[in-house]
Amino acid sequence: MKNTGASSKTNWHGISSDLTLEALGSSQNGLTKIDAEARFSTHGPNRMPQAPRRNSLVRFLLHFHNILIYVLLGAALITALLGHWVDTWVILTVVVVNAIIGFMQEGKAEQAMDAIRHMLAPQANVIRAGERANIAGEQLVPGDIVILEAGDKVPADLRIINAHGLTVQEAILTGESVPVDKHTHLVAENAALGDRSCMAYSGTLVTSGQGKGVIVATGSDTEIGRISGLLSQIETLTTPLVTQMNVFAKWLTILILVIAVILLAFGYFVAHYDFTEIFMAVVGLSVAAIPEGLPAVLTITLAIGVQAMAQRNAIVRRLPAIETLGSVSVICTDKTGTLTRNEMMVSSVLTHRHLFTLEGSGYEPKGSLMLEDAFVSPAQHAVLEELARASILCNDASLREHNGAWIVEGDPMEGALLSFAGKMDLNTRQEQASWARTDAIPFDAKHQFMATLNHDHEHHAFIHVKGAPERMLAMCANQRSANGGTEPLDTVYWSEQADAIAALGQRVLAIAVNPTSPAHTVLEHAEVSGSLTLIGMLGMIDPPRQDAITAVAECHDAGIQVKMITGDHTKTAAAIGKQVGLQNTTKVLSGKELDELDDTALSQAILECDIFARTNPEHKLRLVMALQAHGKTVAMTGDGVNDAPALKRADAGIAMGLKGSEAAKEAADLVLADDNFASIVAAVREGRTVYDNLKKVLSWTLPTNAGEAMTIVLALLLGMTLPITPIQILWVNLITAITLGIALAFEPTEKNTMRRPPRSRHELLLNGGLLWHIVLVSFLFLCGVFGTYSYAIDNGYSVNLARTIALNTLVVMEIFHLFFIRNIYSASLTWQGVRGTKVVWAVVISITIAQFAITYLPLLQTVFSTESIPFLDGLIIIAVGIALFTIIEAEKQMRLAFQKMKGE
Ligand code: ADP
Ligand code: MG
Repeated sequence: MKNTGASSKTNWHGISSDLTLEALGSSQNGLTKIDAEARFSTHGPNRMPQAPRRNSLVRFLLHFHNILIYVLLGAALITALLGHWVDTWVILTVVVVNAIIGFMQEGKAEQAMDAIRHMLAPQANVIRAGERANIAGEQLVPGDIVILEAGDKVPADLRIINAHGLTVQEAILTGESVPVDKHTHLVAENAALGDRSCMAYSGTLVTSGQGKGVIVATGSDTEIGRISGLLSQIETLTTPLVTQMNVFAKWLTILILVIAVILLAFGYFVAHYDFTEIFMAVVGLSVAAIPEGLPAVLTITLAIGVQAMAQRNAIVRRLPAIETLGSVSVICTDKTGTLTRNEMMVSSVLTHRHLFTLEGSGYEPKGSLMLEDAFVSPAQHAVLEELARASILCNDASLREHNGAWIVEGDPMEGALLSFAGKMDLNTRQEQASWARTDAIPFDAKHQFMATLNHDHEHHAFIHVKGAPERMLAMCANQRSANGGTEPLDTVYWSEQADAIAALGQRVLAIAVNPTSPAHTVLEHAEVSGSLTLIGMLGMIDPPRQDAITAVAECHDAGIQVKMITGDHTKTAAAIGKQVGLQNTTKVLSGKELDELDDTALSQAILECDIFARTNPEHKLRLVMALQAHGKTVAMTGDGVNDAPALKRADAGIAMGLKGSEAAKEAADLVLADDNFASIVAAVREGRTVYDNLKKVLSWTLPTNAGEAMTIVLALLLGMTLPITPIQILWVNLITAITLGIALAFEPTEKNTMRRPPRSRHELLLNGGLLWHIVLVSFLFLCGVFGTYSYAIDNGYSVNLARTIALNTLVVMEIFHLFFIRNIYSASLTWQGVRGTKVVWAVVISITIAQFAITYLPLLQTVFSTESIPFLDGLIIIAVGIALFTIIEAEKQMRLAFQKMKGE
């Protein structure tokens, strides 16, 4: 091994690619496993230096940076000056406990985000020990040979050693958004970064073509790594809705503080309250009314949503997507790999005379060939060997056996072709060795074909082409005849047969060949059109995913339309569409037909059609816009580099994690770890759940705050004794309220969540219904607190005991209200509803224990001026809670019944 230091100072762009390989101790076959491991231990992982995390102490202290806390600290100071030490200590304890809870919640939210960042770690295709392999981008070392394809993100700094039409977009480094051509020739030593056209730099995007490069620098040695600070932004956990809520909470806080000051002035100067008394009452009011826990609880709700989605293989890249997903009304999805399993197997083999069927399991290159229900040997039909050879040569995938199972590296469809060739008794390695590839036109969704130029050692050269049948028929002039010669192409025969195979739901691929001059080494588009000889066609089965079928049905229940947008054949698309249960499967619009429709016609057609076939990525963008013009919230999937505009334009852009390109992932809001349609639907379900839970948190918190605040205001205005002391309010608010509210963030999906129509994108969270709920519940809270208080006073109880009873009534009402809120769309009093979640019971039990402690423990009795409550009065308190629950539940049922009547 020579110098592998890969010092960043070497001007690799000024050295030939062969010398670069030599200098890095590598070769076209890549590094050996042992060598790669050794280099990994010297160079370390290929990753950017992490932005330093905020120190935990700073993060903890930031929880004191909040208006309410300042008010409380001020109150602690004033009570201390007045000599009310007990109050001072209670206030300080509450402030600290509150900060600890907030700190822990934030930690949980950050953990959720970290876990996701980890899941989005990029992968790279490399050649190691002569084999193509997909490895984690972090594992790359200098000297590794990286394969670049359209849509890839360059994983490290590379010296290009092989390029076919390779273009790279380097905006991240040079600011230039027009892609630049890349080739293997060395450039001047002093060329500027943007002119080093034989280099590909880490973080840039491959926009077209194919190529290979040898890694010259990894991690922080790369050009991008040296521009430090670029990756140091930390994303905060928020969405537009939550931001709005936080703004709302801030203004509410300011309003309340102003009211508090006015009340203080009124109480002291007009009503002549004792200063300490009125001051503490006003502090109590502020604590009661300000929804200080709200931002934290909303953030936690989002974090839990992000986590729940990740568990279901949907990784959120942009947080606002959580909200949008909940309101999705149309999902536009790919077919291959999303609705189907993308486990392909060649099952029909069509030649100029015969239609064979092929058996087998998975990608194992073994299986028998049948012709009209009889076994035949491939050797009997020479054309099959030619078909198999073309399948091997016009192919970028590789097949390997791992613990008895055959796995594909690369495109599953190409894997199926290799397996087919094996069944035809051809040896992939041998063919690849005797037919070297000198050039290629890579597959792209727009042209729907791929071509390679291959030479053997005896100076023969052939162009091999494979692609969509219609497209290929237009490129062929002849077909292979029985004697191995050529005869004129029978277009009618081939298209009828191809349609018949497609109608079975099989993906059809045509394969053609053309001899060419041995001197030929560069392949142009012009050479593959018109004069090819068609060898045959292959039909591949790709069964639908079982869970996708269930998920499509779930979407229909949830009022979400599902549209399939595929590059595949119209007939194949229709057959698969039927199998997965799409709604309108009779009408299929092809890309060509779409091109003929103007915007008005498209706008009409799109409502009646669920299947779009033979489309290219540009159609996706048009379809998204047409759907959005109908006011729909559109989720769109994509995998290729050209899908980026449609993904960006869609309300929720969804990229495929497995087969998707990095370009698509960068443009997307959501990445599916398993490419599965069912995961999109799971994400929608979680999106709806998160929205519901945000709504539940608000519906629980706001009436609670309003009820507590009004208790104090009313008592002050009426000149009554406060039925609950300010210190007790502090206790209720900062300890119980924040924990009870948190329970709602963990609420699971309600049973009918996916049976409701999607919510409108313009629906307000703080709407009339919620306002009414606030008024109703806070009024009932007032009745409960004042009712039990005056009952106790009338009974001749001491003020302290009456207050203890009122305090406990308030907490009991909050708990019952919590159980009510858990089901805003259905009956709360069901076994499911009462059984609740672990979190609900954990908080309810701890709050109950805490309430018993402050009611019955002598030490806490002196601190909070409470007294032990007699058993019978305890029952009355519970009864008040039950009464509250019954009233609001009855009101909800009436409302639901009324809505039903209106709806029918
Ligand atoms: P899908 O929506 O099913 O993923 P694609 O856009 O990937 O469709 O492919 C469209 C058509 O292009 C396929 O039906 C197939 O005939 C052809 N095709 C797909 N992949 C390749 C490839 N690697 N080489 C040649 N042709 C291909
Ligand atoms: Mg595809």
